[in-house]
Amino acid sequence: MTYVLVFIFLTAMYALYRNVIKPSRIRHEQLKKPFPPAYRTILEKRVRYYEHLSEDRKKEFEKRILYFLMEKNITGVDTKISDTDKLLVASSALIPLFAFPYYNYPRVKEILLYPGSFDENFQTDNSGQEHNILGMVGNRFMTGTVILSRPDLEASFDGRRHKNNVGIHEFVHLIDDADGETDGIPEILFQHSFVFPWLKEIKKEMEKMEKAPSDINPYALTNNAEFLAVVAEYFFDNPEKLKSHHPGLYKDLVKIFSQNPEEYV
Ligand SMILES: [Zn+2]
Repeated sequence: MTYVLVFIFLTAMYALYRNVIKPSRIRHEQLKKPFPPAYRTILEKRVRYYEHLSEDRKKEFEKRILYFLMEKNITGVDTKISDTDKLLVASSALIPLFAFPYYNYPRVKEILLYPGSFDENFQTDNSGQEHNILGMVGNRFMTGTVILSRPDLEASFDGRRHKNNVGIHEFVHLIDDADGETDGIPEILFQHSFVFPWLKEIKKEMEKMEKAPSDINPYALTNNAEFLAVVAEYFFDNPEKLKSHHPGLYKDLVKIFSQNPEEYV
């Protein structure tokens, strides 16, 4: 009997070592390695958000990029992907959560990069025909998967300022969805007392967009969740412009994401 108990105990200890202690030690060791200079060059050239961070924050950004890349699979579907693509995916995930160091998208297991835009059946083809979806968070049998069009991701990080970023858009949906509902209210980021002021701000901006042409992508009018994802793209890609054109909205986004990207400009 004693032998059986000792055997069970040793087996359990071995399983704990193999599945928990060893992987976390390997991870820890890998995170201690210096950030590859080639990665730094890519980030400097492509990711404006990173380019304008202070030296200390750059180091933090790099560490978290490595951690993301260690935890998630990034796979090309009918397309060969490069280190640049992987870094752009990780940057898209990290930028909106940079003020929240302990969250690393636990539900996301894999990010698939497609050779182009696709349709609702995840079909892309070489006919030259443009499909209308650039990115998507999978549901049902695709739960845990994010799909992005590789050329559109690359165009989002071309080193210039614009208001569109398919990577940030999809990862903001995931942050929004973390409380169980993709409703434009990312409750993991903010206090309940802020829900009503935020809903009021969304309503106000949507009414303005309906009455007169706006520089906010009209796709934001689809629903509150798309509104959040669309204005977050604008917020992180061109904070100065959003602040000057929509100061109230800008102020609310600073509160939601707990960061003021205009300071990095
Ligand atoms: Zn969307």
